[in-house]
Amino acid sequence: MYWNKNIETMPCNELKRLQLKRLKKTIAYALKSEYYRNVLKNIHIEKISSLSRISEIPYTSKTDLREHFPYGFLCVPQEEIIRLHSSSGTTGTPTVVFHTKEDIEAWQNIMARCIVMTGARRSDIFQNMMGYGLFTGGLGFHYGAEKVGMLTIPIGPGNSKRQIWFMQQFKTSVIHILPSYALRLHEVMEEMGIDPARDLSLRIAFIGAEPHTEEIRQKIEKLLDIKVYNSYGLSEMCGPGVAFECTYQNGLHLWEDEFYIEIIDPTTGKVLPEGEEGELVLTTLNRKAMPLLRYRTGDLTRIIPGACQCKRTHRRIDRIKGRSDDMLIINGVNIFPMQIEKTIMSIPCVGKNYVIEIHKKNFMDKLVIKAEMAKEHFPGNQAELKHFEQKITGELKTELLVTPDVILVEPGSLPVYEGKAKRVIDLRDEKCSI
Ligand code: ADP
Ligand code: ZN
Repeated sequence: MYWNKNIETMPCNELKRLQLKRLKKTIAYALKSEYYRNVLKNIHIEKISSLSRISEIPYTSKTDLREHFPYGFLCVPQEEIIRLHSSSGTTGTPTVVFHTKEDIEAWQNIMARCIVMTGARRSDIFQNMMGYGLFTGGLGFHYGAEKVGMLTIPIGPGNSKRQIWFMQQFKTSVIHILPSYALRLHEVMEEMGIDPARDLSLRIAFIGAEPHTEEIRQKIEKLLDIKVYNSYGLSEMCGPGVAFECTYQNGLHLWEDEFYIEIIDPTTGKVLPEGEEGELVLTTLNRKAMPLLRYRTGDLTRIIPGACQCKRTHRRIDRIKGRSDDMLIINGVNIFPMQIEKTIMSIPCVGKNYVIEIHKKNFMDKLVIKAEMAKEHFPGNQAELKHFEQKITGELKTELLVTPDVILVEPGSLPVYEGKAKRVIDLRDEKCSI
């Protein structure tokens, strides 16, 4: 099922023509902002006669947004803006993004495409467990779900018992939730003696906003007896709705009528060929208040070559591996937190939560991984515990080429977050390091 079959299955050459038309319009719009008027002054816009000539335009970064806060990127008179959103500030000072009425409508439409693509319908009961407010996750999905016509429960995050109560009372069938919170919610269900397969009506979950592995997706699918779809977006483009999985769950279709995709080498800035992994760079093609040209998302992924079985022609990006600034350098070795998650979550004695600590010991970095045990393995005896810890250390060593200390802890003992989970704690500058 499609929300807008013509657009979603548009032949590639037609899609490219539309992109070029929209790119030209976007550049013309962008020139209305103080920032782009300045940046593009030596560029002959009329020469952007093909999509590849976009490479003549310089990249825009998060720092540029911050340095031209608040109105440096604004392209319309203030009375045309109907909403502002602000990023959650995961990596520093927040940035602000403005929307006109048309921007909000376009966002609702791509959200509706994403929702319908997973098989959710207007007859579904949708419980939106993402934060409402400045964070785009809540309101973005809210308006998309209402557009589809689902009964939408704007419950927001937290208060797990109330979440479960609503699920029971209203037979919630679709949820939108942070992956870390989905695992926590299951724990509360267990404490309450609720078996999702027997006692609830859940069938689809949208998870996103934070990096997570295929292993975590499978864990959530199994625990909640639900189909889980990966949702990717960022406030600077609109919010959620930028890219989403279809029912084949093999990469996320990125709506190419709305965004132009490039993958670049994060160090050299060179554009990489299709299929190679690098930093995702996006250009908005249908935004009015604050179009962004060649915006460096910081997110690492690749374009999945080839067509999808669902017949949508918009290309797919791979699951986000992390942000380029997420990379940890441990005694000179580059490690991504998702490599750690992937390894530990495929080991059955590991439960649902973990934290990565980096200490400094005798001038050397020391990686310490604390992982909660799965309930069925806890407490176990000392010998068993040692055996499991050694097994996990061995597997991590093979994957990372660094030997971490692994500490298995009691289920439910590590911190849980209402917003995006904080998995990495760098203690290298702290005096109290081990
Ligand atoms: P902030 O940049 O302050 O976290 P946003 O709420 O705009 O603010 O977050 C967008 C970022 O969240 C993305 O750039 C990406 O790093 C991360 N993100 C969003 N969805 C996903 C996803 N499905 N998988 C991995 N990371 C994601
Ligand atoms: Zn598909």
